This record gives sequence, C-alpha cells and structure tokens, in this order.
Amino acid sequence: MPILQVLPNVILTRIVFMPPFEMRFAQLLVSALASSSLWLKNCATDCRRRHMMRREWPRLGLQTIPLIRRLGLVCVVAIAPSVSSAEGDVKPGRKVAITFDDLPYAGAIGQGEGALPPNEVVALNTRIQKVLKRYAAPAIGFVVEQSAEKMGAQSRPLLKLWTVDDFTLGNHSYSHADTNKIDLASIEDEIVRGEVSIRPLMYDAGRPLRFMRFPMNHTGDSVAKRSGIQAILERLGYISAASTIDTSDYVFERAYGVALVRKDGHCAERIRRGYIEYSSMQIDYYTKLSQEVLGYAPPEIALLHLNRINADSMEDILKLYVDRGFQFVSLEEAQKDQAYLGELGFISRFGPMWGYRWARERGIKVNGKLEPEPPQWLSDYVANEVGRCQ
Ligand SMILES: [Zn+2]
Repeated sequence: MPILQVLPNVILTRIVFMPPFEMRFAQLLVSALASSSLWLKNCATDCRRRHMMRREWPRLGLQTIPLIRRLGLVCVVAIAPSVSSAEGDVKPGRKVAITFDDLPYAGAIGQGEGALPPNEVVALNTRIQKVLKRYAAPAIGFVVEQSAEKMGAQSRPLLKLWTVDDFTLGNHSYSHADTNKIDLASIEDEIVRGEVSIRPLMYDAGRPLRFMRFPMNHTGDSVAKRSGIQAILERLGYISAASTIDTSDYVFERAYGVALVRKDGHCAERIRRGYIEYSSMQIDYYTKLSQEVLGYAPPEIALLHLNRINADSMEDILKLYVDRGFQFVSLEEAQKDQAYLGELGFISRFGPMWGYRWARERGIKVNGKLEPEPPQWLSDYVANEVGRCQ
C-alpha cells in the first residue's frame, strides 16, 4: 500500500481516535485510497498478521508505534464499520465444527419430577448421534463428570459411544463450577476430577483427551487468572475449546421443557420452529462477525447443548449449515486455523463467542446490540401459567 506510506503521521494518529463524523470522513478517505479490491484484500491480510503479532497495541500509546504498525490500525478502521452493517454473502466451502456441552444431559437426571431417566438420556444422545452420522458431521461432547455420576451405570456405555467413529469427548469440569468464583487450585481440581470417566474411555479408544471447555466459557476474569488457567491447561495437556456460534439453545430448551410438561404440543412445535429460525439468524450474524473481524472466514465452532430441543431439531440445525455451503469438520480440525492459535489475550468475566474476543483483541468496535435476541414471547410463555406461544 505505497500511497498510505506518504500520509503524515499526524493524520494517521487522528484517524484512530477521531469522533464519528471525522471517522466517517476517514472511512471515505481510506475507501477512496482502496481503488481496487486487491488493495483491500492485502490490507486485511496485513492487519491480521500484525494484530496476531501485537495484540497489546490498543494499550500502547500511539507515539510509541512505528508508522508501519499504525498502518495496521488504519486497516482496522477501514473494516470495522462493516461488522455492524454488512449483509455479505456466506461463501461456500466454509467449515464448521459441531460441539455439545453438558453431557450426558444438560438437565436433571433421575426419576424425580422434571428429571430425565437415564434410559431417556441414552435415547437422546443416540438420536443426536444418528443424525450427525447421516450428515457425516464429526462432533465433540463436553462432559460434566458430576452429571455422569448422577446417571449411574448407564453413563459409561453412553459416553463410550462418544469415543468411536467421528465422535470424541472433552472435559467440561467436574461440577460445572464458575471459574470466576473459584481460585486456581480449585479450577485445577475441577479439571482433574472432571476426567474420571472420560480419561479412561479416551485411553481405551486410543484417543488423546485434548479439549477443555470451561463452563459458561469463562476463561479467566483477570490477567492472573487467565495466565494461571493457561498454565494449568498446558501442564495437563489441554487446549481451551473455542466457540463462535451461540444459538441460545438453552433459552429455547427451557420453554420447550415447559411446553412438554404442559403437554402443549402446539407450543412445543412453535418453540422448536422458533429455535430453528433464531439459529438461522445467529449463524448468519456470527459468521459475518468472524469474517469481518478477521478479514477471512475461519472455521466456525457451533456451541450446542445436549438437550431435548436439539435432539428434536438436529436435522434442521445441520441443514442450516449445509444450505449455507458449510462442510462439517472436527473441533481439532477447526482449531488448527491461525485464528485459534496462541494464548487467549481476552480478559472478561463474561464468556462471549470468539468473534467478540477477536474484535476486542484487535481493537475493533462491534455493536453487540445488533445481535438478534431470542423472541420475548418465549419467556412470556414460561412465566405465564396459561402460556401463549405467539
Ligand atoms: Zn456447560
């Protein structure tokens, strides 16, 4: 980008910190400079490479950053606004990994009211796996060891099913404890006790136990906590499992469960269809977010839970990806992409999808309010004794 190299430093400095009107002017300026799509492509590539190398930029004073690195920031300014407004096409040939949290079942297991008996938990898992196999979709199931304990003798043969074919297991902690609320020693304890069932099963299957997904995606709410967590993972041989597409399935599952208890078949189906519609919007939202923030389309990672609404919707969910030209890959394959390599620089007490984390690390502003919300009628349906499902 030779033409940018002649811009005075003062202009570049102002571009980064300017108010909205001037920002718009800067965008027009940069757009004008980008007289060919090739230039923009090169720009995005440069941004990516430089930000991979220097995630700490946003915390540095601009005066300390050489001109060539500031040019990387200009690239960011140029692509950032389109995050919230672009309606770009999803390209064919993209990849997605399907992941499930809270195995064996994301709910109470047992004989009590509202709990699912172990044999029904087995049926739920096998129904999901059957559809995944039909679509040749590899999947990983993240196990909460305490839930496996509660399930009793049937948990082991069930989890074993997740160690064959294109299925694999990951660790989701012992008790689904929130890492924000416990110290590093307790976090390590949660990880180690979370291996009781899955470590021997994976060993017997001749497969490495590689992935740890923290409950609520809480990966460290302070620099010390995040670094400590990273050190524990490295010591125990784990990779932190990422996720890029959240479809709030647990919100729909709650309403779905209420409809099933009420024996309200009409609303159960309405909720299920609402879930598919919302998933469709979320897939589009998050894939555009990833693409705009990174400047390319990384393999996506869908975060689902092992629950009833997914068991009853698996085919529809997978079709959403197939219709968009996605190819299903394993989590391991997805996380080989450069976007997932290296230490997580993101610090927050929340557990957002990786698109938001990448944006934050790169100093790209994203208006999260533009993310679609699950429909209001869902919670109304749950709250009202005689619920209406729109
Ligand atoms: Zn979970």
